[in-house]
Formats: sequence, C-alpha cells, structure tokens
Amino acid sequence: MGGRKSGRVWAAAAVVLLAALTGVGLWRTAGGPPNLVAITSEPEGIMGTSCQLSAVVVLGQAGRAREALTAAEAELRRVEALMSTWIEGSEISRLNHAPPGEAVPLSRESRFVLGRARQLARETGGAFDVTCRPLVELWRRAGKRDELPSAEELAAALSLVGWREIRLEPGGAVKAAAGARVDLGGIAKGYGIDLAAEAMQAAAGLRGGLVDVGGDLRLFGQAPTPEGWVAAIRSPAGDAVWAEITLSGGAVCTSGHALRFETIEGRRYSHIIDPRSGRPASGTVSVTVVGPTALDADAWATALSVLGPEGLERLEGAPGIEALVISRGEGGLRADLSPGFPELRPGPGFPATILRH
Ligand code: ADP
Ligand code: MG
Repeated sequence: MGGRKSGRVWAAAAVVLLAALTGVGLWRTAGGPPNLVAITSEPEGIMGTSCQLSAVVVLGQAGRAREALTAAEAELRRVEALMSTWIEGSEISRLNHAPPGEAVPLSRESRFVLGRARQLARETGGAFDVTCRPLVELWRRAGKRDELPSAEELAAALSLVGWREIRLEPGGAVKAAAGARVDLGGIAKGYGIDLAAEAMQAAAGLRGGLVDVGGDLRLFGQAPTPEGWVAAIRSPAGDAVWAEITLSGGAVCTSGHALRFETIEGRRYSHIIDPRSGRPASGTVSVTVVGPTALDADAWATALSVLGPEGLERLEGAPGIEALVISRGEGGLRADLSPGFPELRPGPGFPATILRH
C-alpha cells in the first residue's frame, strides 16, 4: 500500500503486446431498482492510490449514506496510519526500526494482520511472506542505482527473511535480528477495505455498499442496478473491459506485475518478490482473486503472482477463494482459472475473450 511512488505505469504499446489485466470495479447507476440511490465519495490520498466509496440507500436517506461513507474513510486512514511503511511513525515502521529483543507494543489490528499473515505464509508454502521486507528494500535500491544486487547482498537479505525472525506476543512483537522487517503492502490494503466495508455494513439505513481502493474492492447488500454487482476486469490502460463477473458480496483483488516494476540494467522486475529465491516474481502477468474478505483476496493475489498457475491447487485449502491467473505461456498469454471461477458467470467466451486481445 502507498507504494505507487517507485512504480511506473506501462506504456500503452506494452499494454497491447502483453495484454495484462487489472481488476477494476464497475458500477452502473443508470436504470437501477426504483427508490434506491448510490451516494459516492472519492477521498484523496488513501494508500497512495485512488479510492471510491459508495453507499446504497433508499431515496431520502442521503444523510445516512454520507455518515457511512465518512466512517468507512476513517477506517481506511486508520489502517494506513498503523501499517504503512511509507509513514515514519506508523506502528509497523516502529517495529521495523526497533532493536532486536525489544517488545514493540502493537494495536489489536496490527497483531491481527500479522497473525493472519503468518498463517498465510504457511498456506501459500512461503510464497506470501510479509517478512520479505529486506528483499523488497534490496530490489528497490537496485532499481534506484540501476544495478542488480550481488550474490552476497541477496544472501544477506535472504538470511533476514522468515517468520523465525519475528515473534508475535499477546501485546506486540519482538524481532530476532536488527535488520528483520515486515512489509504489509500485500495485505493491509485488503484489511483496510474489509474494515471500511464492515463500518458501512454496521451503519444504520444502508441497503448496500462498495469500497474500492485502487481497483481492489469489497461489496455487500443490494446494488443500485437490476443486474446486481458487476465487477469488470479491465486492461491496465483501462481502455477495454475484458470480462465481467457477477457477485453478491465479498471482495475482488488484483495483483498486476504490469503496473508496478523496477527497471534494472534494461530489464523489468516485478515489485512482488519470491521470498523463497529472493528474486522478483516472473512469468505471471496478472492475478485476480475473488473471496469473502479483501484481506485474503489481496494476499492470495500476491501469493499466486509468485506461484503462477500451479499455485491454484493450493486454493483447495482456502474455502471461498477463486482466482484467475494470467501468465506467459508458449506463444502468448495463458489464462488459468480455479474450478469455481466460471460460476461467477463471467460471460460466454470467457476466458477466450481475454486471450484474443
Ligand atoms: P498492489 O500493491 O498493487 O495491490 P500487491 O497486493 O500484490 O500489489 O502487493 C505488493 C506489495 O506486497 C509489494 O509492493 C510489497 O510491499 C509486498 N510484497 C512483495 N512481495 C511479497 C510477498 N512475496 N509476500 C508478501 N508481501 C509481498
Ligand atoms: Mg493487492
């Protein structure tokens, strides 16, 4: 989260060549059920990306909708202030800069996210590992100086990665080594989206709602349209809708290598790191994950970017999670789906529609 600073958006030509995807929520307001209206806000400066919040209410209840939107925005800002590594004084930054052996007090929220992250490291066979921060920093530095890390630098960073380096305690966390660090960039946005959606759900008078942060979204209840909630999977340039999926609730998150990368010695490297090898993930172009919570969908999108299509097998142990993995195959792009993904009614011809582009 908040990571757009080092990222660069792809040139249009590259987009056409590789046809990568990003998930973006699409919401039609025209022709909705009678008496329902969607009140929308677009708060700025949230997690370094765009944000759209929408509350569905019966006509005449706009005041309640606005209150719910304010509560949701506050949750997003609260999570960012606790967990962003771009904010010096955040709890996670304090943990990262703490000396070894010192117990760093953490909020219930940070402990919850760290606890889930540790479980997800197990569930994903180590592909999703928030202790990979030393590697994230190493590759960012490499991007800045435009020189690949040496074998020694890679080994040094790798030696600081792994859950043996961080001990979670009832009131906080303790690091084993000074250089051990965590990065919640692949999970905290999802968690913030969940809390924002739950704050809206708890608000009185709401029929439905949508939280969209940079194209990662969670929705609930009634949509303001007869077709229900329709999430569009778009090309990265946003110029084409390649597939639409119908949802009754839950989250949709996308990790697109195409959108954020470092260029080192003339080659592009993903901002997603394979914590097992210490090297940037490669081969996967884009992953869209649907699930009950944005926290899980966000983390699995990152994990499957590391694991590639083979990682879909691991979803057997993750109930309610479905994924679309776009990777580079022989002679072009290849789309792999988890068994339940077609049930989201992505429309006739899917995923062939994508591959034709
Ligand atoms: P986005 O921020 O575009 O939604 P992701 O959700 O895939 O992208 O998160 C990527 C971020 O997660 C990286 O910028 C980094 O902070 C962190 N990260 C990178 N690799 C991993 C990994 N293997 N496991 C956990 N977090 C990672
Ligand atoms: Mg994400």
